[in-house]
Amino acid sequence: MYTVIKRLEISASHRLCLSYESKCTNLHGHNWIITIYCRAKELNEDGMVTDFSHIKRSITEALDHKNLNDVLPFNPTAENIARWVCDRVPHCFKVEVQESEGNIAIFEKE
Ligand SMILES: [Zn+2]
Repeated sequence: MYTVIKRLEISASHRLCLSYESKCTNLHGHNWIITIYCRAKELNEDGMVTDFSHIKRSITEALDHKNLNDVLPFNPTAENIARWVCDRVPHCFKVEVQESEGNIAIFEKE
């Protein structure tokens, strides 16, 4: 089994829709650190699980320097973003989304 790990940073804003009072419902920004884990039993014809640059492009083109509320069809919490990234990247089984220092959400496929 082969695993590749891609870490990338995006700058983006969001505001959260919450059922309680929170400053996070105001528009604000983060430098998100997204760590993407991909795994495959067999390598592709290029000798890779998946190309690091393809992973980066598919995420940064969609999210970098964007308002996440405009580009994602769900409440853009770190948890929901992690799930969205995992669904978007081929062979991905786990995603960590760090919103700020010490605040990390993880989505893993079961
Ligand atoms: Zn936030």
